[in-house]
Amino acid sequence: MTAIDEKGYYGEFGGAFVPEMLFANIEELRSRYIEIIQSADFQSEFKSLLRDYAGRPTPLYLAQRLSDHYGFAIYLKREDLLHTGAHKVNNTIGQILVAQRLGKTRIIAETGAGQHGVATATVCALMGMPCVVYMGEVDMKRQAPNVARMRMLGAEVRPALSGSRTLKDATNEAIRDWINNPEDTHYIIGSVVGPHPFPDMVARFQSVISEEIQAQLQQHTGSPRPDAILACVGGGSNAAGAFYHYLNDERVRLIAVEAAGKGVHSGHSAATSILGTRGIIHGSRTLLMQTPDGQITEPYSISAGLDYPGIGPLHAHLIATGRAQAIPITDEDALQAAFFLARTEGIIPALETAHAFAALDRADILPGQTVVVNLSGRGDKDLAAYMEHFEDPDLKLAPRSSRF
Ligand SMILES: *Cc1c(COP(=O)(O)O)cnc(C)c1O
Repeated sequence: MTAIDEKGYYGEFGGAFVPEMLFANIEELRSRYIEIIQSADFQSEFKSLLRDYAGRPTPLYLAQRLSDHYGFAIYLKREDLLHTGAHKVNNTIGQILVAQRLGKTRIIAETGAGQHGVATATVCALMGMPCVVYMGEVDMKRQAPNVARMRMLGAEVRPALSGSRTLKDATNEAIRDWINNPEDTHYIIGSVVGPHPFPDMVARFQSVISEEIQAQLQQHTGSPRPDAILACVGGGSNAAGAFYHYLNDERVRLIAVEAAGKGVHSGHSAATSILGTRGIIHGSRTLLMQTPDGQITEPYSISAGLDYPGIGPLHAHLIATGRAQAIPITDEDALQAAFFLARTEGIIPALETAHAFAALDRADILPGQTVVVNLSGRGDKDLAAYMEHFEDPDLKLAPRSSRF
């Protein structure tokens, strides 16, 4: 049975390890989030924004050519078709509605690739709330188009100048801001990470994904239950959403796909479930990549959205207990899967999402089974990375099946 306990633990993972100065904010959120989320007024506003603003329900699409190639039925949950191009907006809509009900008037966020920053800036514009997004200076250079989108939407993007000037440094800056502005500010965390209640709250907002999969699969196949669900894992929010309503149904295999970068043991990887050990990062006890004396190891992946040294406590628990299986995928295999999907189905996935598709080759799915791949985001933001590989002779771009 997978469930969070009152203190915010999934088994041995989770909890809330926060500096004393944040205690009041976290406690306010913890004591009120369930009551707020379950209120009729919240539910009706959340549902109508998801439908009319974000574009839910997203389609569940039977990818016929991909299925013919593999010999099993592959359904794609099209989160890439949502407003702002990925699943992240499900969470930012939910959290800004919670912030309003807590009487907050200012929003802060951290971002790595910029996708969560854009989704946060979007809902702040929608609600007319001021928004400050912290982003590592290095990431601001790497992800310039997303910095421009946030500014276009009226957000202030503040560079994090410490450490490696990437995501974990931006997170530290956001936490510092929250400590200094506890009264009026809500911190919208972008994945199922951070101190309790964030992992549970974000999972609940993303759980709309598996709620829809159940109903849509029932219509397509006569059963709400696939044999397996595949999703990529950075912090783990899109996977948490896709797994949520199947967590306690052991008949459904849950496959969490991680970024192996240049190879799991190459020293350039983000395969946390294999390389990670138990520790505390950003307020929760989980698996993280660290040296024996507890220094966080710099993660690496071609995809900025998977380039995180930890995983959320739910996923640490699912993997440690064997409920979910982790599959590491290298940059090269992800790139190949992106080109293959583009040319087989006419869909260009985000680089993060491409990792989930590459795992179709490794997941030991039996002929005739049914799987769902959570198509977490679209690839427009990654075109520059893809273009670098157009002439790459090592990429096998054409479908391998003779049926083509
Ligand atoms: C941010 C992002 C991810 C990784 O974040 P999770 O919290 O693990 O879902 C995956 N896919 C896309 C398209 C993203 O933008």
